[in-house]
Amino acid sequence: MSFFNTKIEYLRGVGVQRAQLLQKELGIFTYGDLIQRYPFRYLDRTQFYNVVDLHDDLPYVQVKGILRGREVIGEGPKQRMVAKVADASGELELVWFKGVRFLEKIVKNHQEYIVFGKPSLFNGKPQMAHPELEEVTETKAGQSYLQPVYNTTEKLKNYHRIDSKAIMRMVADLLRIALPQVHETLSPELIRQYGLMSKAEALQQIHFPQSTDLLQAARFRLKFEELFYVQLKLLRQKDQRKATLAGQIFKEVPTLVDFYKNHLAFDLTGAQKRVIHDIYKDFCSGKQMNRLLQGDVGSGKTIVAFISMLMAADNGAQSCLMAPTEILADQHYVGLKAYADLLGINLGKLTGSSRTSERRELHEQLRNGTMHMLVGTHALLEDVVQFRNLGLTIMDEQHRFGVAQRSKLWQKNPHVIPHVLVMTATPIPRTLAMTLYGDLDVSVIDELPAGRKPIVTVHRYDSNRLKVFQFLRDQILLGRQVYIVYPLIEESESMTEYKDLMDGYESVQRAFPECQISIVHGRMKAEEKDYEMQRFVRRETQIMVATTVIEVGVNVPNASVMVIESAERFGLSQLHQLRGRVGRGAEQSYCILMTGFKLSKDSRTRLETMVRTNNGFEIADIDLKLRGPGDLMGTQQSGVLDLLIADLAKDGRILTESRAAAQQLLSEDVTLSKPENQNIRRHIESLPATAVNWSRIS
Ligand code: ADP
Ligand code: MG
Repeated sequence: MSFFNTKIEYLRGVGVQRAQLLQKELGIFTYGDLIQRYPFRYLDRTQFYNVVDLHDDLPYVQVKGILRGREVIGEGPKQRMVAKVADASGELELVWFKGVRFLEKIVKNHQEYIVFGKPSLFNGKPQMAHPELEEVTETKAGQSYLQPVYNTTEKLKNYHRIDSKAIMRMVADLLRIALPQVHETLSPELIRQYGLMSKAEALQQIHFPQSTDLLQAARFRLKFEELFYVQLKLLRQKDQRKATLAGQIFKEVPTLVDFYKNHLAFDLTGAQKRVIHDIYKDFCSGKQMNRLLQGDVGSGKTIVAFISMLMAADNGAQSCLMAPTEILADQHYVGLKAYADLLGINLGKLTGSSRTSERRELHEQLRNGTMHMLVGTHALLEDVVQFRNLGLTIMDEQHRFGVAQRSKLWQKNPHVIPHVLVMTATPIPRTLAMTLYGDLDVSVIDELPAGRKPIVTVHRYDSNRLKVFQFLRDQILLGRQVYIVYPLIEESESMTEYKDLMDGYESVQRAFPECQISIVHGRMKAEEKDYEMQRFVRRETQIMVATTVIEVGVNVPNASVMVIESAERFGLSQLHQLRGRVGRGAEQSYCILMTGFKLSKDSRTRLETMVRTNNGFEIADIDLKLRGPGDLMGTQQSGVLDLLIADLAKDGRILTESRAAAQQLLSEDVTLSKPENQNIRRHIESLPATAVNWSRIS
């Protein structure tokens, strides 16, 4: 057993009782757990502030001065101690509401102190509540350092005296005995190539930095190591999967050639061609494809999906395309059915509202192989849906599907696992994609079809509604159609949101008496939704009042204006998704973001970003920075957040470097058997086999 697996209770001064608290409250069980509990920030005790320079926005700072006017005021619970500390520049007021009795004994008038705390201004005068005091003595006067601050809990702090300082002392004790036991975990080559600090020194410096430069180097080293091992694991899994999982070979493409030559109404973009080529290469490789296709809204993913399905059909395999909503499945079906009919391909549709008789027929055709392609919703995951030879499964807008559902699709072919293509219009920032989907191959469509005009996006306040409505009227007179979107009404729909939507619908009716208006929301039955959608598609209605059910994939090229109500309530990626519903035709399109005057800082950033750019990847990056990876779709289940020190939102560069390093290592020594890589091998073998199964993320 390694030294770092030693139970924390054996650390000097800890013992059974405190060990139990540390386990329960902080999840610290062993020496290793404690040493890897890095400080979450540091108090800069390298410099002293002048009292005149103190203001509200400063973090914890220290001031040095003579204490005077020590006084206890009030009675009972209102009792407090106040004092002043003066330096050459002015006077700082100090106040304590707790522990007054104790303070009375130790705080000395006319003593020089280092006062440490968070300053605030009260009636224009600087103040500190509950500062720490430290007497200035000969020896301490010259000292300067960054003091680590550790996470702890209220319970530990208030009832058990395990505050940040107590943890600091434990860590200091531990480091003294632990450092000689620390093994280097990276190879000499990596350390040299990336100029890394040694592991032992990094552990020392991360807890007790001797300077900000050394802290920086320690951080870099530990982040690099952490991300390196994540990437190494992912890349090895990917290699392994490629080596073991066979896939059907789809080499012949006669129908596809017919389609290109005779039926496809437009030229594919360069990006679409490149992606199709990636996919074709996978299909010819004999290995199972597991590919993520990212492409901004409107970039033309559907046709890429259909072409892939044609390749399967040309080689005697069936394929299915799964959409997250019924509306979207319908739309795919209608669009692709027209092509399929021309090509003599049998394409079916299966959704929750398919009739029993239809289903029976469909199931039969899927089993005997006369149905080549199937478009549908979750309904096609049901066990009764069996294929003769499913060779390709495509998931559109993957973030709506759970991991379990995806693996269910794999099982639809007991002989050879179908190829998998996952399509998403929520561009995942590169840094996150590398980690989340590090074991997938990724293709990107980074080009919109020619002739699209960039959408003009503006932000308007509710007080300008009349003007906005006039603009809509003008556009409708020009023959365009308009979406007006209200915040979410979905499975978790609340009554107030429903009421907001209905109020909005009525006011739109009043404001546009001359127009026909559709309404679609999550509480409606599928047939009702469909009926309303179809009226809009056929241009019988000019305005579509809707909730985010139209977020995903709906395609009405004549709809060129989108109004988003209460836009501050939507996330950035969601706003971008919604906006993607317009800008699909030849006309200039508009997106109008409506809000009230009161907006948080983050809301403002979101709105400004939308107004400034149409670039989905840029937007995704900003979204990641605003929210952190925790809120992004799909991250919770992946375990990516278990990182100890690296931050996917901020450490993109280190991630890229560590991934390159991992790739390099595997290309030179895939079995990790060279003598210089033994540190790495030993470290991998010591890692616990985590519960996270990375290969199942897709
Ligand atoms: P998304 O990537 O958002 O799913 P779609 O596949 O729905 O985008 O495509 C949006 C629209 O662009 C559709 O009407 C589609 O027919 C059209 N389209 C796709 N590719 C091209 C292209 N290369 N040239 C012109 N129009 C295209
Ligand atoms: Mg789509």
